Amino acid sequence: MYKEKRVTAIITAAGSGRRMGSSVPKQFLPLKGRTILQRSIEPFENAYFIDDILVVTGQDFVPLCNRLCRDYTKVRHIIAGGKERQDSVKNALDFVKDGYVLIHDGARPYITREIIERVLADAAEKGAAVAAVHTKDTVRQLCGEGSRTLDRDRLYNVQTPQGFEVPLIKAAFKKAYEEGFYGTDDAVLVERMGHDVAVSQGSYENIKITTKEDLPVDIRVGSGFDVHRLTENRRLILCGVEIPFEKGLLGHSDADVALHALMDAILGAASLGDIGKHFPDTDDRYKGISSMVLLEEVKKIAAEAGYAVNNADITIMAQRPKLLPYIEQMRKNIADALGTDINCISVKATTTERLGFVGREEGIAAEAVCTINRI
Ligand code: MG
Repeated sequence: MYKEKRVTAIITAAGSGRRMGSSVPKQFLPLKGRTILQRSIEPFENAYFIDDILVVTGQDFVPLCNRLCRDYTKVRHIIAGGKERQDSVKNALDFVKDGYVLIHDGARPYITREIIERVLADAAEKGAAVAAVHTKDTVRQLCGEGSRTLDRDRLYNVQTPQGFEVPLIKAAFKKAYEEGFYGTDDAVLVERMGHDVAVSQGSYENIKITTKEDLPVDIRVGSGFDVHRLTENRRLILCGVEIPFEKGLLGHSDADVALHALMDAILGAASLGDIGKHFPDTDDRYKGISSMVLLEEVKKIAAEAGYAVNNADITIMAQRPKLLPYIEQMRKNIADALGTDINCISVKATTTERLGFVGREEGIAAEAVCTINRI
């Protein structure tokens, strides 16, 4: 049985993802905080019966894959792929000597240990096995001038992983290349050897991410809160608007308390820390800096993590001055900085009925809530 032999998983991540309409191949897009590729690898990494993992990707993405796979103890090589998917698998197979191999799409992130183990057990018994599920649709085949319904009970949709004895799959690849044959999966090459391929129970969740619609909606919420002290001889700047008042807010930057709350909300939604981490007040570069500049920087940081602000709602707590005349300009400043529509940005102001430090006009507080979504 497979327990005495080495088991290698080959994860294919060489697809260009043209159908996603994204500049980044789909396997590198985020899915619940990790990449689709990482989610496709992890069940193999965590399965006790897997010994080695090989990841094959496009030449340009080898460094990125190296970074993404840094923490996986079983990933042995990141291999540059070939022209077609089959060429990529072949490049990886050259690194495999013996035992069993499981070939899996790097864009099938919902794979489970149970499916992997079933395919491996069937491959160990029969030489070749594929994960598959019963076809749900009624399928017709063209024949002659008309068409006929196929027996649905005997039809399966093929998934990955596909498992093979290594000598068998190597022989199948050799034959395919000798004959110039390219298949749509690996099992068909084994089938051409006259060898049976077992069907193992996959799952309907084990889909290949092909288009944007295959990805779940990923909206995240963040909140931020900030307070600055009111003092003489400082300008009062809120949401990038300079407001005539006898006092201003004290701080290392321009002390724009409302934008600070907003930036913390954005960073919080993306789990990227807070503005203190990104713009430390010990750094002279940020002395007196406009918080509008920092907001644009936060937008970039979030974008690098794959997110854009969807909407934001800010509440400024100040006893004085009256802020209503400045609200529209505040909303516009933020919308311009974030590249959103002004209708997605809300700024509200409230007093605290003369209660607390805000009521005593010792300081101004602000809180912000925002949602971000994947771009
Ligand atoms: Mg602050």
